[in-house]
Amino acid sequence: MRFFEDNVITTKLEDLVNWGRKYALWPMPYGTACCAIEFMGTVASMHDISRFGAEVVRFSPRQSDLLLVMGTINYKQAPVLKRIYEQMCDPKWVIAVGACAASGGFYNNYSVMQGIDEIIPVDVYVPGCPPRPEQIMNAVIKIMDKIDPRKSLD
Ligand code: SF4
Repeated sequence: MRFFEDNVITTKLEDLVNWGRKYALWPMPYGTACCAIEFMGTVASMHDISRFGAEVVRFSPRQSDLLLVMGTINYKQAPVLKRIYEQMCDPKWVIAVGACAASGGFYNNYSVMQGIDEIIPVDVYVPGCPPRPEQIMNAVIKIMDKIDPRKSLD
């Protein structure tokens, strides 16, 4: 009787849920400048981010678990970015796309935040001005690697 062995797998609930999280990231794009255009290329058919299960781009933080910050962030909008992060589902991850989001880029002045990690945690930094779509996809893959399927459910 081989029916049971060939047709049934066993696992733990937390493994199953984390596997689902890993392969079904829902990105929220927070684009304020040119790097956001690169993200448009990333989700377009030529690069096809859906290969990694991350194509369900949402514009509501309550429906997203992956925040991509793309562009210059000034201090005036810092509270807005922080509130969006706080409204996102848990667990959640953040990618700082490009030099501006990571370090202020070449806008070294009083009004521009010198890196979004001043206000929210960043999981992956993408270098470049602008980064290529391949680099953004690589960051998504790094986030997937960070989602440990054995991690306990919150
Ligand atoms: S890093 Fe460069 S390309 Fe990206 S938003 Fe800043 S100036 Fe634009």
